[in-house]
Amino acid sequence: MFELFEQIIEENKKANLENPEDYHVNGLLYCGRCHTPRQEEKELMGRIFKPYIPCLCMLEEERKEKEREEEIKRMMEIKRNTGICFYDQNMREWTFANDNHQGDASIMNAFLRYAENFPEMQKRKKGLLIYGSQGVGKSYGAGCVANHLLLKGYRCIMTSFSRIINAVSGMREGKQEYIDDLCRYDLLIIDDLSTEHETEYAEEIVMNVIETRCVSGLPIIVTTNLTPDELKHTESERKKRIYSRLFGITFPINYVGEDRRKRTMVNDYAEMKAILGL
Ligand SMILES: [Zn+2]
Repeated sequence: MFELFEQIIEENKKANLENPEDYHVNGLLYCGRCHTPRQEEKELMGRIFKPYIPCLCMLEEERKEKEREEEIKRMMEIKRNTGICFYDQNMREWTFANDNHQGDASIMNAFLRYAENFPEMQKRKKGLLIYGSQGVGKSYGAGCVANHLLLKGYRCIMTSFSRIINAVSGMREGKQEYIDDLCRYDLLIIDDLSTEHETEYAEEIVMNVIETRCVSGLPIIVTTNLTPDELKHTESERKKRIYSRLFGITFPINYVGEDRRKRTMVNDYAEMKAILGL
């Protein structure tokens, strides 16, 4: 019996090499750096054993190592989530920090505040309906929210109804599972809700996604070129149902501004002219 303990303590000793600055007090080893014991006295059936224990600086080192490991794990998780989130990897660059301030500053600020207050938005089950004309930066703003949240460890996905419809149409089975999966992300961003879902089948899928998201109680961000008026006054009863559900779970933001793509094209044209000396 004692042999086993002695063997354990011998192993324990090998794993706890003395440092040159360590010293002994009353037969127990002390750390020369933090001056706390590296050994303790234990009595077992009348015999005294002196197993090694970690001193304060060893415990601190262990804690830091664990923190480093946690941080690496967290970074890997963020990398994986970011890879999943965007269908176009350029969108990883769509961040508030990278914003070139071509868009409306107060609206970009509203997006930032939405992202910063995300826990509150989750509690309120509130998403955003970002509407406005083509190219003002609606998708960019939504992408910034996603990137901000991804860095905080949230799982987000940015997609469009046409992508969802395409994916689901190609499936023989597992359609509902696919939609259920989408609706489990902390934030679902549907980029560019338009008249793309004209067929009954497509409308059904759009309705299904919005319904499922409603039930999940998790926020959704939808960008669209359609105005709330156009959304409200649609002929189709089914669409009316879809949009009224959507209005119920989002806060509308009217993003007006100049067409970023057009401006980039104009700038690009001017730069090319200058380069070519035309
Ligand atoms: Zn120490």
